[in-house]
Formats: sequence, structure tokens, C-alpha cells
Amino acid sequence: MLEVKNVTMQFGGLFALNDVDMSVKQGEIRGLIGPNGSGKTTLLNVITGFFTPTSGAVLLEGDKISGKPINAVSQCGLARTFQNIALFSEMTALENVVTAACVHQTINLLSAVFKTSKLKSQEKECYEKAYRLLEFVGLKDKADIKATNLPYGQQRLLEIARAMATDPKILLLDEPVAGMNEQESAETVKLVNKLRETGLTIILIEHHMKFVMELCDSITVLNSGRKIAEGAPAEIQNNEDVIECYLGKKKGG
Ligand code: ADP
Ligand code: MG
Repeated sequence: MLEVKNVTMQFGGLFALNDVDMSVKQGEIRGLIGPNGSGKTTLLNVITGFFTPTSGAVLLEGDKISGKPINAVSQCGLARTFQNIALFSEMTALENVVTAACVHQTINLLSAVFKTSKLKSQEKECYEKAYRLLEFVGLKDKADIKATNLPYGQQRLLEIARAMATDPKILLLDEPVAGMNEQESAETVKLVNKLRETGLTIILIEHHMKFVMELCDSITVLNSGRKIAEGAPAEIQNNEDVIECYLGKKKGG
């Protein structure tokens, strides 16, 4: 479904990504792990169109999406959350999701000025969809609360609801449980499993090994911008290069 081909991303002399390949199947949950600064967020930024790679390409269902503007990539079916929360803090939870639910609707100026019935029914659909998504992530009774007034864990769940509002084929989550307490992380595990059941393809960056091992079908490991390993969770756990890059030494050595 998604193919990252020989992607290199340079910032000046720094290779944030160096010749990275990755292919993700439909319906898969792919974990992306690696030490701080290894290029995980950069890879997400390249896949979602925030950066155009220095070289290489990203293909979605065979079509090249790298080099397209962010909103075009989003229209192709990719949605993400951010490592640092990026909600509209002064809007309510519902409004945050509604803005995303309406984003791909084509509304012409005349219908906007005259508030045509078509526009009104589109608006109604957006609100209904936003409510359904809040319910899905467990925030239905928080609809009217300003995003900034929600506890941290709920803000992260709201970000997922907002990302889902664009009906993505692939959802990319950047450290979804970072900063969460144990109960909030457990809620998030449940939510990601529920998303998996809908057939959604998910790519998730995470530091918490337990979370990654529990959820992911397969894992890609980056270190200093290079892919150093890829495989099922059990293989990755026992991979010498991975152990070395996390613990700074070889197994038994
Ligand atoms: P990770 O998410 O794995 O912690 P990042 O992808 O954020 O790592 O960063 C990889 C490397 O690229 C780091 O050295 C970081 O400083 C650098 N980097 C990321 N984004 C930029 C940018 N916009 N400009 C310059 N350097 C960047
Ligand atoms: Mg990061």
C-alpha cells in the first residue's frame, strides 16, 4: 500500500534519512522505532508531504505522492498526529474535529454567501461525523470543552479523532502515548486496536517498547537516519543491532 523507496533527507550536511526503504501492507500496524534523533519524525514528515525528500520517492498504491503539497497528500488518504500536540487550543473538542471533517468539501462562494440548503446539509454531516468520531475515541461528553482545558491524554485522543475525520487510508501517529499516564496509555492501546479492526493501515512511532511490541505487526528500526532492522516484534527484540543501538553494546559482549 505504501512504499518508501531509497529516501534520503538532508538538512545541510546532516543526513536525517539516508537511503531508507520501507513498504507497508494494507491493514498493517507498523511500528517505527529508534533512538532520539534517528529520523523517525523526519520519515513521517516525508511520507505526509511536510518535506520533499532530497532523493527517493514515496508511493501510495503505486502513485508517487512525494513532492505533492501537504493538502494533496492528505486528499490521497494520509492523516497524522504530531509529536507535540497541535490542536486549535481555543476551539472546543467538537470544533477541532469539525474543521478536519469539512476540509475536503468543496464549497463555492455563492453557496457560502447564501447558505444554500446543500451547504447546510454538508455542515450537518460534518457535525454528525465529528460527534461519531468523538464517541469512537471516548470523548463524546467532552464535545463542548475547549481543547486547552482537556487533560493531556484526552488532547492526544482528540488529535486522533481529528486525524480520522479526513477518512484516511493510512493513519500516522507520532509518539501517541508519550507523556500519558498508565491508564491513558491503556485507553490508547484499546483505541488503536479498534482502529485496526476497521481495516485502517497505521504507522506509529513510539518509544515505549511494551506498547510497540503489543500492538505492531511489524517494526522498522532507524538509527542515525539509516534503517538497521525490520521484522516481526519477536525478531526485533532479539536483533543484535537493535539491542546494540538501544543498550550501546552487543549481546553477551
Ligand atoms: P526522531 O523523531 O527519531 O527523534 P527526527 O526525525 O526529529 O528524529 O530528527 C532526525 C535528525 O534530523 C535530527 O538530527 C534533527 O535535529 C534533524 N532535523 C529534523 N528536522 C529538521 C529540520 N527541519 N531542519 C534541520 N534539521 C532537522
Ligand atoms: Mg520524533
